[in-house]
Amino acid sequence: MYPRVSVDLEKLKFNCLKMIEYSKNNGIDYIMPVIKVLAGDKKIASIFDECGFDYIGDSRIKNLKLYHRLRAKKYLVRIPSLSEVKDVVKYANLSLNSELETIKALNLEAERQNKKHEIILMFDLGDLREGFYYSYEHNKNIKEILELENIILKGIGTNLTCYGGLIPSFDILNRLVEIKNNIEDYFQISLDFISGGNSSSLYLFGKNQIPKDINSLRIGEGIFFGKETAYSTDIDGFYHDIFTLQAEIIECKTKPSFPDGETSINSFGEKTYIEDKGLMKRAILAVGKQDVILENLKPRDNELDIIGGSSDHLIINLNNTSYKIGDIIEFDLNYPGLLHLMNSPYVKRHYKKKP
Ligand SMILES: *Cc1c(COP(=O)(O)O)cnc(C)c1O
Repeated sequence: MYPRVSVDLEKLKFNCLKMIEYSKNNGIDYIMPVIKVLAGDKKIASIFDECGFDYIGDSRIKNLKLYHRLRAKKYLVRIPSLSEVKDVVKYANLSLNSELETIKALNLEAERQNKKHEIILMFDLGDLREGFYYSYEHNKNIKEILELENIILKGIGTNLTCYGGLIPSFDILNRLVEIKNNIEDYFQISLDFISGGNSSSLYLFGKNQIPKDINSLRIGEGIFFGKETAYSTDIDGFYHDIFTLQAEIIECKTKPSFPDGETSINSFGEKTYIEDKGLMKRAILAVGKQDVILENLKPRDNELDIIGGSSDHLIINLNNTSYKIGDIIEFDLNYPGLLHLMNSPYVKRHYKKKP
């Protein structure tokens, strides 16, 4: 039953509730979790329902479809493709958007399905991924959107530290607040959500750096790993070890640590540097690059070192430990590590409940 990702559901629940409280204390009333890292895992997603979030977000419609039965409203975080508007209206209550043409298509489809579709309009504050560029003129587009009968403009948002690595700051987020004020004054409407980014904005907490009009964040990594992602530091008071990779030893032998003969490239076409450390007690585990990028794993046992691997094998220096075949070795994961493992059909899942 290995390899598997073990998930501590109690710790996840703790981090969810802690994130709600932590955000409230920093003037953010609406946390909209982004659970794309779960690759459609309903069991784990249901924890977010239990914690009372109003919306849960995913980047893929296929996953939102799996979450159909959950109480929370669903939102699509990747701006919709024109070719998927039918499913977007069917499976998502809300989507993030940045193209007028797509919004009009959503409107037509919503009319067909006799629904109202909510949108958060995305503005690019300089990170250069999705959104209307902040410093341009937007009123003409907004006017057209407000005239669409089956579209509800719920708010505006931005995404930071994703492509350009732009670090959130008061001045950058204030660009979004200026857009909010302009829209509300000019059109005499009020927007529910001013969505100031993702887990990189958590870096501003406790610094009095978040403009008070920013009332919402879309958070994934901050909840799953207790991290802010502007500088990738752990946030005190959160769990950082909710997820564990467990893999089984299939070979355990003492061998030379240096290849015996002329060497070329490995199975991934890479020239690897191998140090001669003399005889070494080594283990091979049944998990590989097909499941996860090995750099995203870290053995929980400090005595162990990852020395390499291939598609299906992970090789460990056991140093002076006494592991043997059939033993399970545990690893800490980072966000990309978890993302790949959850998407590998060869990796099982284990749900850890109360001890
Ligand atoms: C993934 C994503 C998020 C969440 O990002 P985290 O860094 O995991 O908090 C928020 N917004 C958008 C548009 C995303 O694609």
